[in-house]
Amino acid sequence: MRLLIASNNAHKIREMRQILHPHFPVVQGLKEAGLSIEVVEDGHSFAENAYKKASEVCRLTGCASLADDSGLCVDALDGAPGIYSARFSGEHGDDEDNNRLLLERLQDKPRPWTARYACAICLCRPEKPPIQVEAYCEGTIIPEYRGQGGFGYDPLFIPEGYERTFGELDAELKNRISHRAKALALLLERLEEENPKCG
Ligand code: IMP
Repeated sequence: MRLLIASNNAHKIREMRQILHPHFPVVQGLKEAGLSIEVVEDGHSFAENAYKKASEVCRLTGCASLADDSGLCVDALDGAPGIYSARFSGEHGDDEDNNRLLLERLQDKPRPWTARYACAICLCRPEKPPIQVEAYCEGTIIPEYRGQGGFGYDPLFIPEGYERTFGELDAELKNRISHRAKALALLLERLEEENPKCG
């Protein structure tokens, strides 16, 4: 089955394709599929935004569409940047500016700066009810940048149980333990329940 990823974020699409490849051989982002669709993310939760993106793209294309809405929630900032993670420092959505602002907001707060990544995923298909799942990856924010891998807040985020940031850890490891990996695993479980294999 061809699966459209209702996103223009190349980093997310790459991670989702790597994780989903064994199950969905053809996974395309909107641009790759030649589609120019912008969905306004004005929901009040990750789940609402994911549903909005997936259902809109499914409605417009008639294709199975999957959307991820994700972000970083920092305890000392009462859960911010949360659903505003991509545009924390402004609509331009620049990772460096977002990271700089995050450290600025945290500088007077006592450490450890505990945090979690959240990921809501929604799959919409014509004539079928949507599947919605959500998962988290616990960790800590550190005050200096480490590593070039990943994207977004990854150079500042150390996942629980590790000593290196997502910017330093292998992409393959991130794709096993991240919020996105866990949410996609839940989605695959739900699909498996719909179509159990015989024998
Ligand atoms: P969305 O595209 O509205 O879901 O926003 C996602 C934003 O959350 C990204 O632009 C990043 O700022 C942040 N984010 C989500 N997942 C990750 C991740 O795996 N690593 C780093 N930042 C992430």
